[in-house]
Order: sequence, then C-alpha cells, then structure tokens
Amino acid sequence: MEMGTDEKNIKRVEAKINELGYEVGEIHGTTRTVIGIKGDVSELNEDTFIPLPGVEEVIRISKPYKLASLEYKTLLNGGTPVYTRVSVDGIEIGGDKLVIMAGPCAIETKQQIMDAAKSIDRIFQEQEHIARPILRGGADKPRSSPYSFQGLGEEGLEYLAEAGERYKMPTVTEVVSTEKVELVSKYVKILQVGARNMDNFELLKSIGQSGKPVLLKRGMAATVDDLLQSAEYILDNGNSNVILCLRGTKSFDSGKNGPYRNNPDAAYAVALRKLTPLPTGFDPSHSTGARYAVKGVAIGAVSMGADFLLVEAHPNPEKALCDGSQSLHMEELRELVNAANDFRGLYNHHFNGKD
Ligand code: PEP
Ligand code: MN
Repeated sequence: MEMGTDEKNIKRVEAKINELGYEVGEIHGTTRTVIGIKGDVSELNEDTFIPLPGVEEVIRISKPYKLASLEYKTLLNGGTPVYTRVSVDGIEIGGDKLVIMAGPCAIETKQQIMDAAKSIDRIFQEQEHIARPILRGGADKPRSSPYSFQGLGEEGLEYLAEAGERYKMPTVTEVVSTEKVELVSKYVKILQVGARNMDNFELLKSIGQSGKPVLLKRGMAATVDDLLQSAEYILDNGNSNVILCLRGTKSFDSGKNGPYRNNPDAAYAVALRKLTPLPTGFDPSHSTGARYAVKGVAIGAVSMGADFLLVEAHPNPEKALCDGSQSLHMEELRELVNAANDFRGLYNHHFNGKD
C-alpha cells in the first residue's frame, strides 16, 4: 500500500481478497503496509487490485513459500535484506559469531552426557571470541532399524536438562512426534526436527504453535525448496524462531557406494543465504558419517557462511551406542572449535554482508 494510506483503503483491499475466496495475511513492514494474499494465486489477476485506492503495487512472490523467503522479507523492509537472528539464552544464532552445537548422537547414561557436557564446557572456556556452546543429545532416536538403540526417552531428557543446567548450556534434542512436543518442550531450549520428519506437516504445525526455537533439518531426499516449504509451515503457525540445518542428502555416491554416508551439502549454505532470511547451519557428522572427514567438511561449511555447526562428539566414541564412527573425540572437537572460530573470522572479514 502507499505510504501512510488510510485504514479504510486497507480494509477495502482485505474485503476484496475475502470476496474472491482468499485469506488475508496482513503484515505491517517497517516502511509500508504490505497485505499478503494466501492461497493458490495462480488464477488471480494483478489488475483486480491495482485500481483500488491506496494500492501502490501488486507483487507476485514467485516462491511457494513467503515468510521463509528473503525476497518477501526484503520487500517488507523497503528493499534492504534483513536476516533473522534467533536468540537462545543470550546466544545469537545467525549473528556475527559462529555457534557450535555439540554432544553425543544419543544420551546413553547420566554419566555419559555429564562427561560430554563437562568436556565441551572446558573447550569453550578456553575460547574468547566464540559464542557459548549448545549441548545436543538425542533422547528419542529415529533409527533406520527397529533393532538399533532407540534412546532413553524421558529419562534421557532429564539427564540432558540436568547437564545443560550444571554447565550453563542451552540444549537441543529431537522431537519425533506431535504427542511429544509438550513433553520435550519442558526439558530443552531448542526442538529439533530430524531429517526423517522434515515433511511431517502435523508435527511442523504443532511445533509452530509451541513457539519454541526450532532446528529444522533437511530431509535426506528433500530439495531446498521442500525444506523452505517445511519451514513455512512452522512460520505460518506463528513461530518465527526457525533455524535450518543441512545434513547431507542421499545420492548415487552415498551410503555403501561411496566414501560418505550422505552427500555433504554444505555448499547450499551459500544458496540459502540468497533464498531465505533464516539462519542456516550444517551437520558435518551425518553429512559424512566418517570421523576423519568431519573437521575438514565442517570448516568448508563455515567458509561458505554456515551460521552454526551441529556436531556429534562423544567422551568415548568407540563405545557409543549410536553413530560412534562419525562422532569426534573431545580432543578433535577442541581442534575443530579452534579452527572453525578462525574461519568464521575470515568469512566475516571477507564476505559477510557483501556477498
Ligand atoms: C540427529 O541429529 O540426531 C539426527 C538423527 O540427524 P538426522 O535427522 O539428520 O538424521
Ligand atoms: Mn546421529
């Protein structure tokens, strides 16, 4: 709408949208009022709205998602791109500092998650210019085989919360079903949607309604467009605290055919910066499935602008009940954190805001 337009002109446009059978999504931007039209607008003609008083222009958003699109956010902001920052206990994801989320694949025992948290805390105590870490650990593990370790469930959530409290680290864990959103929300700061659930739309809706920060992982055979449409489900349900996580995709060269469990898709961090305002990170552990590759691939992702890393690290990977062969030893995590921090500095210096 034109700058400073009359409320009555806004109402008239809304009435027209409703009359045509569409839903109104009015959003006040910082510089002007933008009225969204929800639904399949392919049959809708721009000329229907242009003659109405107060209408400045009609813009068709070409993407099948809107709230997750940088194009839309930029439009609302009068032409300047604005990136989302998600704040968790004072740790800003999508800000200047790289954020590292680390911990075991699964919470196995109280001792194990406490030991992991203690080592992670110590590694980050030595760091001056890096954000505080976020502690990861799965309590419900969606395993490919029903005979693999399935996680400790609520008992695991209790241990994770206790470790997070003791070492003053926010926590992230996966929520595997709609029924568990409320329970998991009580224990952790960030809800994780796993690759296998990226298109579980009922789960996305209820996570949207929960308002908790969400780490949404890319499905293993999902396109970036699919990922952003899944993010749209959460955003459209009123939750703007969405962060995206690349974690490798299936390819002809993944699994038993190739050196890596998945095809590391870190380069999409560059593309996502053009497509969405949402913070985007990378999981080098599930992307590669190979401990020897984790550090190098993670550094690559940081160089390509990943805002955070989600890394599996275990006090004793050889004994891990889950994903031990891709989990870093704590000493390796220390090396990764040191290097990643330096590379983030270089990225900010050379590229950030200018690419
Ligand atoms: C995880 O991060 O714990 C996990 C299971 O990863 P993904 O959903 O990417 O397989
Ligand atoms: Mn894992």
